[in-house]
Amino acid sequence: MKLSELRPCDYCNEGLLQSKDGTRYAMFYLVTVDRAVLNPRATQRVMGIAQFFGLQMAEIMGPDADDAVAVASEKFPDLKKDELMVCQRCYTTVPMAVIAEKRDKFIADAEEFAERAAKENERLAKENEI
Ligand SMILES: [Zn+2]
Repeated sequence: MKLSELRPCDYCNEGLLQSKDGTRYAMFYLVTVDRAVLNPRATQRVMGIAQFFGLQMAEIMGPDADDAVAVASEKFPDLKKDELMVCQRCYTTVPMAVIAEKRDKFIADAEEFAERAAKENERLAKENEI
């Protein structure tokens, strides 16, 4: 990572290694966030089979077992994982979800993923309705 890629803390908007009051920090944090959703139909099918044969067998036998959990970075590689830059003070005092939600990009990416995952689940449901 280059210096030019750094930005102020994603929560307090102050320096990652030195706050405005002069407090110096030894390090800052890069927190990578990925997202995932369940495909209800595929999950239901796998869990139905699992009642009789156990989860491991159900994942072998279930036709859409690989689609049960959609992980954003795997399903849609163009939706990169979000990386939060957080100073030491915020990292130790503010819940990470609060920091993440403060970034507009984070929220936009989450909405984009939710939309795409819902469309993908609909497509898979139609495919399996034969
Ligand atoms: Zn901060």
